[in-house]
Amino acid sequence: MKQRMWAVGVDFGGTNIKCGLVDRRGRVVTSLVLSTARFGRPTTFVVGIHRAVEQLAASARLSSARLAGIGIGVPGLVDAQRGVVHMLTNVRGWCDVPLAGRLRARLHVPVFIDNDANLVTLGEWRWGAGRGAKSLVCLTLGTGVGGGLVFHGALYRGASGAAGEIGHTVLDPDGPRCGCGARGCLEAHVGTAAIVRMARQAGVAHRGRLTPEWLAWMARRGDRRARAVWHQVGRLLGRGLAGIVNLLNPDRVVIGGGVANAWALFAPSLRRAIRADAMEIPGRTVRVVRAQLGDQAGVIGAAVLVWEER
Ligand SMILES: [Zn+2]
Repeated sequence: MKQRMWAVGVDFGGTNIKCGLVDRRGRVVTSLVLSTARFGRPTTFVVGIHRAVEQLAASARLSSARLAGIGIGVPGLVDAQRGVVHMLTNVRGWCDVPLAGRLRARLHVPVFIDNDANLVTLGEWRWGAGRGAKSLVCLTLGTGVGGGLVFHGALYRGASGAAGEIGHTVLDPDGPRCGCGARGCLEAHVGTAAIVRMARQAGVAHRGRLTPEWLAWMARRGDRRARAVWHQVGRLLGRGLAGIVNLLNPDRVVIGGGVANAWALFAPSLRRAIRADAMEIPGRTVRVVRAQLGDQAGVIGAAVLVWEER
């Protein structure tokens, strides 16, 4: 029998569904994108993924018999073991959907699903900035603040698959309201909406929409107010991470997601805050680094899930 050399990784986002054919060394050989508006419902998703897998295999001139499996990262709560999507955060129509079983019945290959932040973590740990780490905390910064944990060479999922929600650890119980219903979560302080709010309060000049990208551009041009906002983002992140560092004593923290493009603007104050707020030994041990796989991390991590779980 020929070796099964490829896996398909799927990263299900609020706007796009990214699909990639990934080889055993974590390289995306070929990829395509589906729109979530068109393919985001359970039935259309299954049809879309089926077609995408056929297209990817065809464009790589690959027989689907050589496909090791399909891994899928979804933005919500899943039962990874049973392959069931309990609910998705920003996509409607998903309530206890046995997604892995449905796709398996249609495509006749192994299918694995997990939370998207878990798979970014898995990707960075196996092929990115987390390589070689024995204990890893990964944080993704964007509209939401996601997190994942790797211990002893495996993802830590917790009792019901919801571990690693670092974005919803509380920094300030009297702080701003968070999307999860609580107050003062890390996400309510450093999610993109919070960063934009801070920039507005600081009076950062702008034409058109005020976004984190704009704020980063202004800061790089030397705008003092913009630089101060990024400094504050780093401080808040560092303070939130200090508690995690005390709790878990990880050897590495990897920071990814779109907002990490401003890495150089907030990393120094982030590192300083961890050193100041964490206990001495874990604070000195941890290395805080920027993610390396960029916006392919989810697709690569989903493929890693196939190799890890088979
Ligand atoms: Zn929250």
